Amino acid sequence: MIRPATLVDRYRLILLLSLLLSSGFFATTLFGYFVSKQAIRSAIIGQDLPLTSSNIYSEIQKDLVRPVLISSTMAHDTFLRDWVLNGERNVDEMARYLAEVKHRHGAFSSFFVAQKSGNYYTGTGILKRVSEAEPRDAWYYRVRDMKEDYEINVDLDLANRDAMTIFINYRVHDFSGNYIGATGIGLTVDAVRRLIDEYQQRFHRTIYFADATGRIVFGNQAGQPTDLRSRPGLGALVDRILQEHSGLYQFEANGDNHILNVNYVPELKWYLFVEQNEDVALAGIRQTFYANLGISFIVTVIVIFLTYLTLHRYQSRIEEMASTDELTGLLNRHAFGILVDKLMAGYRRTPRPITFLLADIDYFKSINDRYGHRTGDQVLVGVAGVLKAAMREADFAVRWGGEEFLLVLQGCALEEGQVVAEKLRQAIEAAHPCATDGSISVTISIGVSQYDGSESPDQTVNRADAALYAAKGRGRNQVCLTPPAGADGSSAEA
Ligand code: GH3
Ligand code: MG
Ligand code: MG
Repeated sequence: MIRPATLVDRYRLILLLSLLLSSGFFATTLFGYFVSKQAIRSAIIGQDLPLTSSNIYSEIQKDLVRPVLISSTMAHDTFLRDWVLNGERNVDEMARYLAEVKHRHGAFSSFFVAQKSGNYYTGTGILKRVSEAEPRDAWYYRVRDMKEDYEINVDLDLANRDAMTIFINYRVHDFSGNYIGATGIGLTVDAVRRLIDEYQQRFHRTIYFADATGRIVFGNQAGQPTDLRSRPGLGALVDRILQEHSGLYQFEANGDNHILNVNYVPELKWYLFVEQNEDVALAGIRQTFYANLGISFIVTVIVIFLTYLTLHRYQSRIEEMASTDELTGLLNRHAFGILVDKLMAGYRRTPRPITFLLADIDYFKSINDRYGHRTGDQVLVGVAGVLKAAMREADFAVRWGGEEFLLVLQGCALEEGQVVAEKLRQAIEAAHPCATDGSISVTISIGVSQYDGSESPDQTVNRADAALYAAKGRGRNQVCLTPPAGADGSSAEA
């Protein structure tokens, strides 16, 4: 098979294509990754964290409004005030009232503390008497002395782990405006808890509240220190955050970048922290990035493979078309040029005898004239078929001219070439090689020459041509040899 120089170009083209495709895919994938990364980052900073923060904030406010309203109703209740002014006589009446309020609003507790008696009433009766000496009653004296109508006191319910309990402590006045005690309810705010849990689970955000000293008071993650100052990465920022009240911060912890949104909740005097581990948030697009790389790789391989196949197929056809004679299917002279160069190169490495047979159909002109050009063509095809059938693997046959054929026999010396030529001559004579008219008898004359190791292939062909001329001159349908160049040059009959 002929391997022209174009083969090298094919590999170079495929290499170039692979480089272009893979670098193009890689660049777009990488670009896409960075664009998405930037988009996610801006979304976290600009929308996600502030939205989460304000949602939680408004949920807290919503949770606060209801208990404040209930407590306000209690503080202005004429029954409650009349009962106090009448001397706190029937404890059961007050207990029933408080039990009713607690039950109706699903409160965690309801209470009234009378200023005059110091009695702490609940739904079950008198719980105790408040005392200024008791630290746990400090809230009452704070409420007694404050200017505002009420205060919101948030406690974590220890009995119900982590549940946030809001106490509304409302001042109660008689009908002339004199202070007569404090009332209110305690409510467990599960809604905030649920909202925080949802955000933590769905978006992997960490949400917690810290007080003015920088301690986490609500929503602490298991295993984390409650003191913000001792948290890795965040510690150094705490003082600045507490001073600024709200803002956007970033810090590194355990090799991950964290984005932090802080908002001050004045009603609770707490700071709401919403934290997002950026690397966790980017895990999705990092996966997409690897998937895209994989897809790009597969597409590149498929495209390269298909290109290779197509190129191979077309190139083989073009090579075949360029190297084959259309009519007979034998090699053409262009192919002979390439093959003979290789042959010579091979001879220089390991010299083995090469013999050329130049065959010409006798009186072919008259075949054309008698039977027509088309039949002439069929004769040519038939002769070529007989020649091809007689060839060995290492040999090749070339359509040298109109009705001339050159056979190149490798590893074959002159005498052996003569034998082959004689067999061919007889085969053609016996074959009647016309496909449509078997009565047409065809003969060939053959000139044989052996490559002498120093001449050019053309010179060997010329010597075969001279022998062929001799064969024609001696009556045709015969084989003639030429002695190697340097002998007397005359042709010798077989
Ligand atoms: P000789 O025995 O001396 O070889 O006689 P010849 O008639 O064969 O010699 P010549 O070279 O004068 O004639 C060759 C003829 O082959 C001439 C040309 O018309 C014919 N020929 C060449 N190519 C083709 C072809 O492809 N098809 C056909 N049908 N004829 C061709
Ligand atoms: Mg002829
Ligand atoms: Mg001829």
